[in-house]
Amino acid sequence: MQVRISVVWVRAWWLAALAVVFFCLGVVIWYTLAPEPSLGITTMARSVADRVIVIDPGHGGPDGGCSGASGLLEKEVVLDVANRLGELLRQFGAVVIMTRESDTDLSGLAPGVGTLRQRKNLDLAKRIELGNNSHADAFLSIHANAFPQQRYFGAQTFYNPRQVPDSQRLAVLLQEELVRLTGHTQRQASDRINQRILNGLNCPAVTVEIGFLTNPREEQLLSTPKYRQQVAWSIFVGLCRYFAQAPEPVA
Ligand SMILES: [Zn+2]
Repeated sequence: MQVRISVVWVRAWWLAALAVVFFCLGVVIWYTLAPEPSLGITTMARSVADRVIVIDPGHGGPDGGCSGASGLLEKEVVLDVANRLGELLRQFGAVVIMTRESDTDLSGLAPGVGTLRQRKNLDLAKRIELGNNSHADAFLSIHANAFPQQRYFGAQTFYNPRQVPDSQRLAVLLQEELVRLTGHTQRQASDRINQRILNGLNCPAVTVEIGFLTNPREEQLLSTPKYRQQVAWSIFVGLCRYFAQAPEPVA
């Protein structure tokens, strides 16, 4: 009797184990075959095809931009995020023009020639010229922020309200995605900026400050490939939404 009970118990145990295995297999198969959550964005991403998008990683060469306590330089972070964004856009057929692809400024001067101010003037003029001559559908200048107090953090997108009207719509959509996907800021798109590059461009243009290098947590995040990719993805999704929406009627 004792033996028979044991056999029944063992059989029940095996049946339970099999049920668990089949359940797990079912879950795996369901997740494999179920529609991807990103299907919406995959469809929307087609809106960037054939759009000319200028990506402008700020600074470069002797101009390192701002830096964090660990020595992370703005010019390095923004170039990497810009390259990641460019890669995403190219995958969906956008025509991507990078203002720089390496650690250099656009002054056209040989290393060591001219003051930093002179180089900066020439550099900015060249970036604006590049943007205006490329018949761009959008121009994105990518920067990182800095502030004397460490407590300030969060990515923020800026636009010039007196420039092209669509710049505001672009800024708002990019900012919404940065807030949603990076998940740690409630900053809004802002027009509180007077930047030569945004003043000089004739296409929808924004400056995206991807975070504060002077905030230790954000500096740490921005040092990781994972977060950089997340930021690039946020900007990419914002651009997809921007191009997917019908353009505002011309008054
Ligand atoms: Zn900058």
